Amino acid sequence: MAYLSIDFAEKMEYNSYCDKKLPERAIYIKEWYFFMGNKVVKFGGSSLADANQFRKVAEIIKSDEKRKFVVPSAPGKRFSEDVKITDMLYRCCELAGSGVDFSEDFQIIKDRYNGIISELGIDMSLEEEFETIAKELKARPAKDFAASRGEYLNGKVLASYLGFNFVDAGDVIIFDTKGMLLLDDTVKAVRKTLKNLDNAVIPGFYGRTTEGYIKTFSRGGSDVTGSIIANAVRAEIYENWTDVSGFLVADPRIVDNPDVIEVITYRELRELAYMGASVLHEDAIFPVRSAGIPINIRNTNRPEDAGTMIVSDDFDFSRESLNHTITGIAGRKGFSTINIEKAMMNSETGFGMKVLKVLYENGISFEHMPSGIDTMSITVDSAKLNTVRDKVIAEIRKEVTPDHIEIEDGIALLAIVGRRMKNTRGTVARIFASMAHARINVKMIDQGSSELNVIIGVSEHDLAEAIRRIYDMFINSEKMR
Ligand code: ASP
Repeated sequence: MAYLSIDFAEKMEYNSYCDKKLPERAIYIKEWYFFMGNKVVKFGGSSLADANQFRKVAEIIKSDEKRKFVVPSAPGKRFSEDVKITDMLYRCCELAGSGVDFSEDFQIIKDRYNGIISELGIDMSLEEEFETIAKELKARPAKDFAASRGEYLNGKVLASYLGFNFVDAGDVIIFDTKGMLLLDDTVKAVRKTLKNLDNAVIPGFYGRTTEGYIKTFSRGGSDVTGSIIANAVRAEIYENWTDVSGFLVADPRIVDNPDVIEVITYRELRELAYMGASVLHEDAIFPVRSAGIPINIRNTNRPEDAGTMIVSDDFDFSRESLNHTITGIAGRKGFSTINIEKAMMNSETGFGMKVLKVLYENGISFEHMPSGIDTMSITVDSAKLNTVRDKVIAEIRKEVTPDHIEIEDGIALLAIVGRRMKNTRGTVARIFASMAHARINVKMIDQGSSELNVIIGVSEHDLAEAIRRIYDMFINSEKMR
């Protein structure tokens, strides 16, 4: 999905205002002011896993009157071996699809909701809803419909508990018949419905196709719903409440107690997410980014923590308290490099093109391609390469007759990401120094023209140590200055 620049998005708003005739302009401005100064708050599954979590959520919402539009997930895990409601619903659907009785599994789902309702002392019953869902699953066991009911029911419970309006996402989030989101139609529908309401709970994760079928986003998709609602109401911020206090500078399974990233730009986030760091659904970025709305990742269990702010690239960073050179480090295993040698390679026109054509024809995309005078090495995903390995080697041999070709497996890529690297000298030297001290061999280095990240390739078994060393060099030692 392509990103729109903020400038462009603003122009779009302005143009759509100018396109309107005078009476319509007045309505447009009224709508704009109506929505001004509100926050969209999304709560993930672990934030709504039981009655106690619901209480925390209500307290967070009630503590700020701007938190008017709430997007809940379905109840998630209460403890590590617990099962998410969404997974239980998928299971019921699977059983229903094979004509097997699913009432026992469905009872567990009912018990979870009923437990929350009774513990919170809410005066409501979901019995009719349960009956309708069970009937529908028997008649037409559709996966998306089944999964969406987790959010739908949770939205009903939360709205009732908060005393907020309930807006069915099926009425405002619109997909085409192929299941692609219709963003413009959705934004219009959301605005039309919400502009008459002081507050609303809009369940995450699903919407409806123009043919009337329930359709979900991919897993974790309530993040996307929240982002769309934030875009539609021009929220001043999109708060995404979860069970961690934001993005961490490095993977906590590798670095002990890593720092939280205070502020990150959308572009930096893309780089880190690509390397496997994830808290947020990938598709949740576009709707808010295009509208210039920041995202704040917050922790429901520690609301006093500021969390991570995700902001546009032209954000004013002058008030930031932390000032490390790098923003984050992430690494991924599972790469191979195809190393090719040929004397006089540099003067052979089309050499690279012929090699890349072989990869293209075999459906392999490449990650990096550093080259020397007579050498070229191409980093690719091992799993993809393995399906066509011998064929690719044979075809490259045939196309460019190299002197030598070999594949090296077991490569890990490590991204060191930071907007401040551009204006800081010596970053790459420090990366190499920390690798040298740890006796880690750097197999590849790549610095993009944006100078937003440096990617290095190391052996998979060196990855964890490499991350720890870079963390020490750029975070711990900078704190001691
Ligand atoms: N409940 C859905 C899932 O488990 C969607 C979400 O939580 O965002 O994937």
